[in-house]
Amino acid sequence: MADHGLSNDLALLMAENQQLRSRIQESERQLSELQADQSLLESLMETIPDDIYFKDRNGRFLRINRAKALRSGLSDPRLACGMSDADFFQAEHADASMAKEREIMERGTPLIDEVERLIWPDGHTSWVSATKVPLRDHVGNVIGTVGISRDVTVHHEMEAALQVERDRLRTLIDNLPDHIFIKDRQGRFVTVNSTLVSALGKQSEAELVGLSDREIFEASLAEVFEADDQRVMDAGQTLFNREEELVTSEGSRRTILTTKVPLRTKSGEIFGLVGICRDITERKLVEEELRRAKDAAEVASRAKSDFLANMSHEIRTPMNAVIGMTELLLDTQLQSEQRDFLETIRDSADSLLEIINDILDFSKIESGKVELESYPIEVREWLGDAVRTLAIRAHAKKIELAFEIDDAVPQFVMGDGLRLRQVLLNLVGNAIKFTAKGEVVASVQVESQSPEHVQLHFAVRDTGIGISPDQLSRVFEAFEQADTSMTRRFGGTGLGLSISSRLISLMGGRIWVQSHLGQGSTFHFLVNFTLPQVAVEVADEPQDLLLLIGLRVLIVDDNDTNRRILYRMCQNWRMQPTAVADATTALEQLRQASQQGPPFDLVLTDASMPDIDGFTLASHIRQDDKISSVIVMMLTSLDQMQGSQELNQLGIRSYLVKPVKQSDLFDAIMLAMDGRRSERPAPVELQKTASQLPPLSILLAEDSLANQKLAIGLLKRWGHTVTVANNGREAVDLASQEDFDLILMDIQMPELDGMEATALIRLDQTRTGKRVPIIAMTAHAMKGDRKLCLDAGMDDYVSKPVRPHDLLTAMLTFFTPEIKTPPPSPQRERSVPASHAVLDVPHDVRVDWAAARERVLGDEDLLREIVEAFLSEAEQLAIDLSTALTSTEARAVARLAHTLKSNLRTFGVPCADSIEAIELSAKAGHLEPVKTLWPAVRPHITLVVEQMQAYLSKPAPG
Ligand code: ADP
Repeated sequence: MADHGLSNDLALLMAENQQLRSRIQESERQLSELQADQSLLESLMETIPDDIYFKDRNGRFLRINRAKALRSGLSDPRLACGMSDADFFQAEHADASMAKEREIMERGTPLIDEVERLIWPDGHTSWVSATKVPLRDHVGNVIGTVGISRDVTVHHEMEAALQVERDRLRTLIDNLPDHIFIKDRQGRFVTVNSTLVSALGKQSEAELVGLSDREIFEASLAEVFEADDQRVMDAGQTLFNREEELVTSEGSRRTILTTKVPLRTKSGEIFGLVGICRDITERKLVEEELRRAKDAAEVASRAKSDFLANMSHEIRTPMNAVIGMTELLLDTQLQSEQRDFLETIRDSADSLLEIINDILDFSKIESGKVELESYPIEVREWLGDAVRTLAIRAHAKKIELAFEIDDAVPQFVMGDGLRLRQVLLNLVGNAIKFTAKGEVVASVQVESQSPEHVQLHFAVRDTGIGISPDQLSRVFEAFEQADTSMTRRFGGTGLGLSISSRLISLMGGRIWVQSHLGQGSTFHFLVNFTLPQVAVEVADEPQDLLLLIGLRVLIVDDNDTNRRILYRMCQNWRMQPTAVADATTALEQLRQASQQGPPFDLVLTDASMPDIDGFTLASHIRQDDKISSVIVMMLTSLDQMQGSQELNQLGIRSYLVKPVKQSDLFDAIMLAMDGRRSERPAPVELQKTASQLPPLSILLAEDSLANQKLAIGLLKRWGHTVTVANNGREAVDLASQEDFDLILMDIQMPELDGMEATALIRLDQTRTGKRVPIIAMTAHAMKGDRKLCLDAGMDDYVSKPVRPHDLLTAMLTFFTPEIKTPPPSPQRERSVPASHAVLDVPHDVRVDWAAARERVLGDEDLLREIVEAFLSEAEQLAIDLSTALTSTEARAVARLAHTLKSNLRTFGVPCADSIEAIELSAKAGHLEPVKTLWPAVRPHITLVVEQMQAYLSKPAPG
């Protein structure tokens, strides 16, 4: 039993042992779990960078982690046990913390992510985000607090700075006068500045935020805005300064200028837009008002110019009567005092008329009434003719007048020759007016060129009084004169340059001036020209040019510019020029060349030179046997013209009036060198060609008697019937009454000119359906105007004076088309020396009998007939021209000069050129130069008439 009891005890013991062992095992297991938890907590407390702390109910630290210990300046976390916030922070913070912790402990509710400001003992502050919860024991009693807090100082400072920035921006946009807004991707307002808030009649931004345009504006406006928004946000493009309408809360319509810019995220995605609108209603109104005022001012100014134009026109009519009557009175018997008075009246009236002409021109330009024309200008002839009209004025003041044309300048350009000439003459006229001694030189150069255009650079240089720097900028203004005291001395309206500058700008060009007081001025202008697209009728390169090659010519002129120009001309013709500045050197050169060879062929000398003049030089040459055979040509001014007898005695072959055109020099040299020239087609050949034509009925419209006779003579010889119309009106009437095969039409005629008559005839013919060929007969000045003639309805043209060969060639093209026409002969008019050439007549007025004979195909009877015709009208034309000039009828002067010129050309008289200058000047409405030119040329007509009379007094040959 005892055993049984023992064994029971043992079993019990063993069971208990077993229980103990498992309990121990359980404890060990719990212990190791605890140890694991402990080590987790330890590592947490050692490594977490945020602050962790446990406090008892009195705020004393039970434990803190390593991060907080470090931040609190403790080397070991354990040192914190028993300390409180008061040991680390200023009381203010410690107390506040304690108060919060108490609340947590009392209420048992946690405090989460509360941003706290920490004030450290040294006074520096930092910011933390703190989470605090109650600390409970194992039965749930609150025994203190646990806290975790993170330092957010950097983040907090950034946030604060951002807020400052935001506030500033807001202040800015709220105070800008422009409307500023931001919209999201759906077009809803996100931000609206105060200006826009009040423009839309709202109190605060909040009333607008979240709304879209449709909820604010009337539908039509909203649609436009939305469409723009979508464009900006879809395409990502800025809409810049778009003019829009806006209706304000008061209902007033404003004009705004809107700019919309897309807003993008960092990755470039568009999330909205910012808009800036400026109210420009006031500005628009002012602009509109200004524009209206400007329009009104322009209308007024144009009306003023119109008025001026009308007035000056009205004033001219009585002025003409005043001048005409004064001239008539001056022709009567007068006492010298009366004559004196009358001359003063005439001079004053003349200058008044000049002023009125200027004003008329000026106002025409100002009121936009000037339309430029475009026709071929033969630059060298044009410039020469223009400048030469002022030669007398220059020579009267003993000033050298020259012009220089660069070789590169094209022969023809398309432009308004008359208007351009007006500018050039104004500049040259001024240059002469303001120069007391020295020279005036007009020049042309190519500034730039393309296949279709050329820009020419014109310059007019003088050695006159110059213009002071302060006046320089003003001379192109209307009514400006550099120095009013000068004006009294020199006269003028101060309009010339402003007219010129306006004309040049109408031509798309530019004008400017360079000047030094006391040293002279240079006026420049650039003008663009188109080049003729169809080949303009150009005189064939004369065969005669060959005769000049290698010719040795001695140029004698004291003026550098002239010498250079003459030298260049001679060089162009491949002559061998030598230029010297005075007569003594010239004689030396001549003598030396005659001894050592080769001798000179030609001397081209200026008449007026200091020390020894040209005439004295000529007489020295004449008296020296060794050199007397050289041909001497004299360059003179009109007032130096000597009697033909004297010229002959001095051995002067021909003389030329300066400034010399290249073509004139050429003609004069050819004339002086006569006897060495090529042959012309023989009359017999022509007659043969003429017989190929059927007999025709021809209407000849021509007002000049001599030209009529010439044409009739030729045409009758060729077997045609001729009906004469004395003017354009008669031509139109006759053409409608009779059937003609051909009409020959002069261009310049009284009543109706050739162009007008042709137009009427063509009009009439549209009725009858018959188209008669019309051949124009145009003067040299119209050369190149072929296109004008053709445009006017003519079929062809021949230039005047009509040469049988040309006329025949033109006629053949209409009536025997199958016959090939012979090649044209050179167009340039030149004389063939006659056996009985009279060299005692000055070159300028010498009748070229050979040329005249050629024109009548050697028919001496016909020649006598046209000479008689010339005699019967030439003097009368001259008288009529004088009368027309007196009564300042520019049109009549131009027409009479034209007829006189073409008569003189028929007989190859060189002074026809001077008459042409008169014609051109009068056509341009400038009678002033004509008044000086005509009295100088007038005696020439008598000299020509004398030669004609001498011819008639000889018995007719055969
Ligand atoms: P005006 O009819 O008075 O000559 P312009 O318009 O032609 O009028 O010229 C204006 C002014 O410019 C002249 O009065 C003169 O003072 C000055 N001027 C023009 N050309 C010259 C020049 N070549 N030399 C000096 N002064 C000049």
